[in-house]
Amino acid sequence: MRFECDAYDYPRDECRRLVLFASRGVSKRRVSVWIGPRDAGFSGWAYRDGRIRLRLGPKGDLRPMVAETKTLRRAYPDIPCGSWRDVLVFLAAHEFRHLHQFRYWGGAASEQDADEHAIEMLNRWRAETGRRPIEAMVYL
Ligand SMILES: [Zn+2]
Repeated sequence: MRFECDAYDYPRDECRRLVLFASRGVSKRRVSVWIGPRDAGFSGWAYRDGRIRLRLGPKGDLRPMVAETKTLRRAYPDIPCGSWRDVLVFLAAHEFRHLHQFRYWGGAASEQDADEHAIEMLNRWRAETGRRPIEAMVYL
């Protein structure tokens, strides 16, 4: 995996470790991840050629995360965002899941599957850092 971090004062090595955590279970072969700055909030994009672009706003400005799909938004109205680290794990896991979908599912992207995977990885991360998992507000 190639990795570059050009976002504000985000610590490069820690960002790399968080991205590697978020990408567990997904092949990193021919993958390049770039983290760049954004005025506010955050965004991510996965390309079919293996590039992942993540954009993060200033550290103190990361708002609660909201799942992309309607069903998941109902289940998790606000995904509590403990810190920029939570945001990065969630976002990177979501985009890595898209790479997995492109490679193994015949090219179709599923936002619901990517969000579910990202919530699972975020909960693993929260468990590793001694926090409770995020629970769905309603049954899917
Ligand atoms: Zn997506």
